[in-house]
Amino acid sequence: MKQSQKRKINWSRFLSGVPAGDYIFQDISYAEQMEQASALIKEAGLILIGAGAGASSAAGLTYGGERFTRNFGEFIEKYGSMYMTDMYAAGFYPFPTEEAKWGYWSKHSMINRFLPPALPLYQQLYEIVKEKEYFVLTTNVDHQFQKAGFQTERIFATQGDYGNIQCEKGCHPKIYDAERLFRQMDQARYDCLVPSVMVPKCPVCGGNMAMHLRCDRYFVEDEDWHEAAGHYHDFLKKMEQKKGVLLELGVGFNTPTIIRFPFEKMVRENRNLSFIRLNMNEAFVPESFGNRAIGIGGDMAKVISDLYNRSSI
Ligand SMILES: [Zn+2]
Repeated sequence: MKQSQKRKINWSRFLSGVPAGDYIFQDISYAEQMEQASALIKEAGLILIGAGAGASSAAGLTYGGERFTRNFGEFIEKYGSMYMTDMYAAGFYPFPTEEAKWGYWSKHSMINRFLPPALPLYQQLYEIVKEKEYFVLTTNVDHQFQKAGFQTERIFATQGDYGNIQCEKGCHPKIYDAERLFRQMDQARYDCLVPSVMVPKCPVCGGNMAMHLRCDRYFVEDEDWHEAAGHYHDFLKKMEQKKGVLLELGVGFNTPTIIRFPFEKMVRENRNLSFIRLNMNEAFVPESFGNRAIGIGGDMAKVISDLYNRSSI
């Protein structure tokens, strides 16, 4: 896909309250985009980062391909390659028992949450914004922002965390740190199953436990979750007064109502705000934002690295 040509997006089923014809791939060079983006970041009093799956995938936490087959060979063999196509699909497999469910999820959590260190993309992103007043809104559940040094009170991870578990029916508003349990399961797993004695049970209702991931109406929003939501709303209030930049990273159309659509709405309604969208293939931005918006396509790891190099000049 050529980035340098201005093209109208013809996407008739596109729903976001914006006429589909307003979206364009910008007709400026990568060098110009980088210059504008780093200038916006430098001048901004406030930076709101919104990060989706594309950010972690660009950072190296890819869910398919070699990384999947290398780590999940045993699972692919046991459950069939028709279902076990990648880590995303595998998470939706109807595991027949709790031993099988935790056999999979303990592995998934080790691979995506506990074993990876802070990845360079997130570390560089932190270096870019650490002296600024920033806030992170993310649908990612891999803990990369915390690992890279972003302050916990400046992160709102709306969809959960691979490191925590909750009552499957959400019978009480509490989540539980599962690191020790998952590490033990990882040692004890045999034939993709964990021993029955390791299967966690809800301490309140005695029922099954589940990953703390928003996948149904039972997702637990505990005290910390509500506190983080409050911090996010406080930050949005500040953005109404100061010059700010919204930096959107790898947000697709899986849950666009959390980051993508609200970010565009804020920029549309507040002329003090600018918008930088980094997205592999969908870096189109509303043309009506004019020079307040920059959409940069392609490899985000390179874009962040280039922004990082510019920020330290
Ligand atoms: Zn319960």
